[in-house]
Amino acid sequence: MSDDCLFCKLIRGEIPSKMVFEDDRVCAFHDINPIAPTHILVIPKKHITTIACVRPEDADLMGHLILKANQIAAEQGLKENGFRYVVNTGEDGGQSVFHMHLHILGGRKLNWPPG
Ligand code: AMP
Ligand code: ZN
Repeated sequence: MSDDCLFCKLIRGEIPSKMVFEDDRVCAFHDINPIAPTHILVIPKKHITTIACVRPEDADLMGHLILKANQIAAEQGLKENGFRYVVNTGEDGGQSVFHMHLHILGGRKLNWPPG
């Protein structure tokens, strides 16, 4: 946990969120500024700054996070038409909140390559 991290505050309930899933290790909530009809962020409750900082001891947590993201994507009805996972990493990667998060984007055709 990090005192001044936005997503750590959200996990602690200090700022409001629209949660779609929570267990002891991960949670998922609607992005405050959605760029697709479905835009959900899945995060570890452990404060990990970027996905590039994941350590060997986090391997099980990362697997759990992906399995839960897959479950959420299916529950959101995204499996049939597909969707996209995005993990912006660092400044050039477009990361703005430095608590790693997996974006689930779906509900419309997504362009490739990203800008
Ligand atoms: P990134 O640019 O990959 O770091 O993504 C950060 C995401 O967090 C952006 O899509 C923001 O819209 C989203 N975001 C920022 N603050 C909040 C918040 N309080 N609740 C939900 N999503 C947020
Ligand atoms: Zn944090």
